Amino acid sequence: MSDYRMKRGYDVPMLGRAEGPIVDAARPKRVGVRPTEFRFVKPKLMVKEGETVSAGQPLFRDRKRAEIRVVAPAGGVVSEIRFGRRKVCQEIFIDVAEQEPVVEHSTYSPDEARQLTRAQIVEILLDSGLWPSLRRRPFSVIPDPERVPEAIFIGAADNDPLPFDYSIALAGREEDFQLGVDLLGKLTEGKVHACTLKGSVPGAISQARNCEKHTFSGPYPAGKIEAQIHYVLPHKKGREVWYLDAQDCADIGEVVRAGRYPVARVVAVAGEGAVRAQYFRTRRAVSAAHLDPDASPASNRFVSGGPLTGVRVSSDCGLGLYDCKFSVIPEGDHPEFVGWMLPGFHKLSRYRAYASAMMPTKAQHLDTNLGGGVRAHVATGIYEDVCGMDILPGYLMKSVLVEDFEESDSLGLADCAECGLCTHVCPSKIEFGEIISKGIVAHLREEA
Ligand code: SF4
Repeated sequence: MSDYRMKRGYDVPMLGRAEGPIVDAARPKRVGVRPTEFRFVKPKLMVKEGETVSAGQPLFRDRKRAEIRVVAPAGGVVSEIRFGRRKVCQEIFIDVAEQEPVVEHSTYSPDEARQLTRAQIVEILLDSGLWPSLRRRPFSVIPDPERVPEAIFIGAADNDPLPFDYSIALAGREEDFQLGVDLLGKLTEGKVHACTLKGSVPGAISQARNCEKHTFSGPYPAGKIEAQIHYVLPHKKGREVWYLDAQDCADIGEVVRAGRYPVARVVAVAGEGAVRAQYFRTRRAVSAAHLDPDASPASNRFVSGGPLTGVRVSSDCGLGLYDCKFSVIPEGDHPEFVGWMLPGFHKLSRYRAYASAMMPTKAQHLDTNLGGGVRAHVATGIYEDVCGMDILPGYLMKSVLVEDFEESDSLGLADCAECGLCTHVCPSKIEFGEIISKGIVAHLREEA
């Protein structure tokens, strides 16, 4: 086991962490899938409103790569399909049936599964709908099944401001996790790596065999898999590695053993706006309104994922495929009279602008208020101060804005862990993450 210590980063002290013990959530009546969450995928719908679908049946596929399909997380009726600008499909909702129809696949005993060839495993993952759980570094896109990665990383760590505890999520799934590790080992020519936080190693990982284990410590983004990959196998030209979440690794073991798309999921609801900030044993694509019905959509913002990196969703929208928590953040739409004159004992600021700087680790109330308007960019060095990667974020952003891809490549576009810290600390209120994300898509278009 190797230990890595990240020196730079920033732990945003925020109230509202999810607490154990885990509870069983009621069966949801509706689940929702968001096709827009898959980077560089152009969805072609394979279902219509009113159609009955089985759990595990494809809902849409990528227009360019027909083999990449996202499947229904529940059996029932497609009750609504929401479209956005230019008729781009935004959300697909399924009303869950009492007796859910399910797509059945071949089943294998663990010993039989370990004899499968690479081509058979790829076919199982594509057919079952688990392939999109894998993503590729650089640029976090669904990988090409034809390619062979240099390594595969399993992420079982989270130290963002509202962290998710993987020990809770993986408890009781040790055998499926081990089978997942063994099957993933056949997809790569290198090693399978399992990444956790020092002092918080889930039992499934400490017991796992046939994988290289790494522990990380230090401030956020030490728990982010993209940052961890940067430390273990830094990006270089031509290098491709794949990664996935630890729950998805256990799902790979489960789908081969049980022959059904795994719909169960441990999900956390966190944030100061949450009424039930806790862990739930529930299912994929469940909505925040189902898990925490008392959290008011009028006074809170619902985010699928972490508060720094997640995506704003409506309260009835399903949890993203790559997310394991909802962050419920109070809306900051209350103007404060002469707020700039007050000492700010309860206001968080990376700069020592408020009195709260005297208690830097005290968890603070944090809402969605920007604390000012967008203004001209000032090169203060604060991006570089918090960035845990070996890159210069300020220069990187400028090169992306002028679409100089050669320059952005050399400045580390492929290394950016998209951790959200630049956006959070930016004194000019610039949406750094959005700029980088658009730059990556433009870069991928250029490459295609
Ligand atoms: S440059 Fe990327 S990795 Fe570095 S702090 Fe900004 S968003 Fe995070």
